[in-house]
Amino acid sequence: MKVYNSLSRKIENFKALEQGKVTMYTCGPTVYNYVHIGNLRTFIFYDTVKRALKLNDYKVKHVMNITDVDDKTIKGAIERRMSLKEYTELYANYFIEDLNKLNVDMDTKFTKATDNIDEMQKIIVKLVKEGYAYEADDGVYFNVSKFKDYGKLSGMKVDGSYSRIKNDDYDKENASDFALWKYWDANDGEAYWKGELKKGRPGWHIECSAMSMKYLGKTIDIHCGAVDLIFPHHENEIAQSESYSKQKFVNYWLHAEHLLVNGQKMSKSLNNFYTLKDLEGQGFNPLSFRLMAIDSHYRNKLDFNFENLRKYEKLLAKIDLSIKALNKVEKYEEKEDNYSRVQTKQKVEKVIELFKEAVNNDLNTHEALQHFLSLLDLADEKTKKGKIDNNEFSVLSTAISKANDVLGIYIDYKIPEEIIALAEEREQKRREKQFIEADLLREKISENGYSIADLTGTFVITKKYLD
Ligand SMILES: [Zn+2]
Repeated sequence: MKVYNSLSRKIENFKALEQGKVTMYTCGPTVYNYVHIGNLRTFIFYDTVKRALKLNDYKVKHVMNITDVDDKTIKGAIERRMSLKEYTELYANYFIEDLNKLNVDMDTKFTKATDNIDEMQKIIVKLVKEGYAYEADDGVYFNVSKFKDYGKLSGMKVDGSYSRIKNDDYDKENASDFALWKYWDANDGEAYWKGELKKGRPGWHIECSAMSMKYLGKTIDIHCGAVDLIFPHHENEIAQSESYSKQKFVNYWLHAEHLLVNGQKMSKSLNNFYTLKDLEGQGFNPLSFRLMAIDSHYRNKLDFNFENLRKYEKLLAKIDLSIKALNKVEKYEEKEDNYSRVQTKQKVEKVIELFKEAVNNDLNTHEALQHFLSLLDLADEKTKKGKIDNNEFSVLSTAISKANDVLGIYIDYKIPEEIIALAEEREQKRREKQFIEADLLREKISENGYSIADLTGTFVITKKYLD
């Protein structure tokens, strides 16, 4: 498996620290609001990395932090007159809900910053003791000039003219000493901790170092984030972690590019700021967005617009129908291997090989998706005939599931009994050539949010998608 490592700025062969196992840390959301679709693109990227590793038979131990204390969460909680815990839990729950809607593999340890304060303090105390960090009047700061490799990830140079940065909205242009621990002031309200350090709260960067080392070890295989985290967040994570542990912090740094909306950066002021709820509100299925995300390479900017999303909604409808039809058509047993069987097997094996190659080529999910769709085309060819040999069915459906384990386009929902009854009634009318009645029943089914597709000898019901 090959991946682009931001640390070496090269595509590298992935080699795990321990054979067959991968430790992976991904920077999670700050839960002060709903996450936007740009964030969701990054989370789908994390999910793709994990699924690709699983395709290669790695056991993945994945940790994601939830930042539930920082400048924004504290301000938000005070404004809403809620406790910090209440306020952040609200948005953490929405975040998890979004991941579920997008079929993100939840085999992840989610951990909150506020549950790991002791570990952060322990690291900070040692950094001060060893001279990497110092105390100022408003907090404890990391001295970037003390870490000789500072800039190895981002290329940012320490030129001696740096200043000190307390807030979490950091300077993106210059290397600066950054706050590990911020002493309490009146703006913090109830958000403070005591312990080995003076009453205060952690800075943002230290959270990820502490949680990554605590749950996954001092050196891990993979750390992911969006490109805007390279500097200073990830650079600072490296500085404080490696100064603390005297070991390499991360072997492979993987970063996802941004999402744009109609070629522009998403922002509240441009009124082009969307959450998953906004897409759902316009009638889109969340998985259409997942399809859109995986159809672009993670290292390219993804240009979002609704017209484009509509294309993916259509594609989603097609995927849903193909898979349901394959499962629905009549299965029969050929007595022996015939030409069709052998040919199907050969074609499917080839496609799966190409699929795996694409995934292992720095996660080329765009190409992988095309291979997945060609499996569905093969399935369509069979289902059009209204029946399929059992053996061919099993070869095809196994391959489709295998590919879909990486792409995550499972479309799972239950069709209500009354809709099934209406569809059967319609089928009966069709057989009796009572086409007007049959059409009325189709309309009724459609009004209830479902569509019917007729196949040779049978029919398939699916959810209705936007057209
Ligand atoms: Zn982080």
